[in-house]
Amino acid sequence: MTKIIEVSNLSKKYYDRNQELLAIENISIDINYGEFLAIVGPSGCGKSTFLNIIGGIDKKTDGSIMMKSNLKVGYMLQSDCLFPWLSILDNALLGLKITGKLTDNNINYVKKLLNTYGLDNFINKYPDSLSGGMRQRVALIRTLSLKPDVLLLDEPFSALDYQTRLMVADDVYQIIKKEKKTVIMITHDIEEACSMADRVVVLSNRPSKVKKIINIDMNDSPIKRRKMIEFGEYSDMVWKEFDGYEE
Ligand code: ADP
Ligand code: MG
Repeated sequence: MTKIIEVSNLSKKYYDRNQELLAIENISIDINYGEFLAIVGPSGCGKSTFLNIIGGIDKKTDGSIMMKSNLKVGYMLQSDCLFPWLSILDNALLGLKITGKLTDNNINYVKKLLNTYGLDNFINKYPDSLSGGMRQRVALIRTLSLKPDVLLLDEPFSALDYQTRLMVADDVYQIIKKEKKTVIMITHDIEEACSMADRVVVLSNRPSKVKKIINIDMNDSPIKRRKMIEFGEYSDMVWKEFDGYEE
């Protein structure tokens, strides 16, 4: 296993009107190449803060984050953030456009992804003619267009209804595995974490600390995993580590 990110004793304090709020306390986690890491924890414990610090859009207070050199990190936000007035192709190309990388090669790469993932008939359509699942796929392709090594997903499916969420999670999982990405996904949904991840990190109530890291020994896609006997056992294992759990 190749370690590509090493988080050591990470802490984060927010300062608000003379008040000090400790969001993260001494988190240490290694992230390995190609793994799918899910981070779960109670609402407000500091999950997004953690991801934002890894993604470089927030600053740490203490500790260190070592990354393999030239590691590219891509972010996919909670809602799909597609612009209704742009075609699917233009939405998918937006990341490249903003970063000034709209080369023929890169455009072809995006078109290839849209083709591979069943959106070739929609490239000239607009987001409102797509299902929630398809929109999420476009958002993922936009993130992939920048060829990130690591994908940061912050509650990527929380805007979707339950049925759609299962389908989209399966879809996104297969795409991520096929494109061989390393993933850090935040979720408050224990079953979602167990259905997708190789390891699940359970965080405590705020200030978040690592309570437990659980290895998920299942390599199947999310929908298949949910039908396996071990699935319930893993979900229980994670559930029991949650702050506030009572037998
Ligand atoms: P989670 O994603 O686990 O729900 P967050 O990381 O968003 O939690 O927030 C953790 C805590 O830090 C919360 O109490 C939140 O109110 C606080 N917080 C988040 N961002 C800021 C900020 N920019 N300024 C002050 N407090 C913040
Ligand atoms: Mg959050």
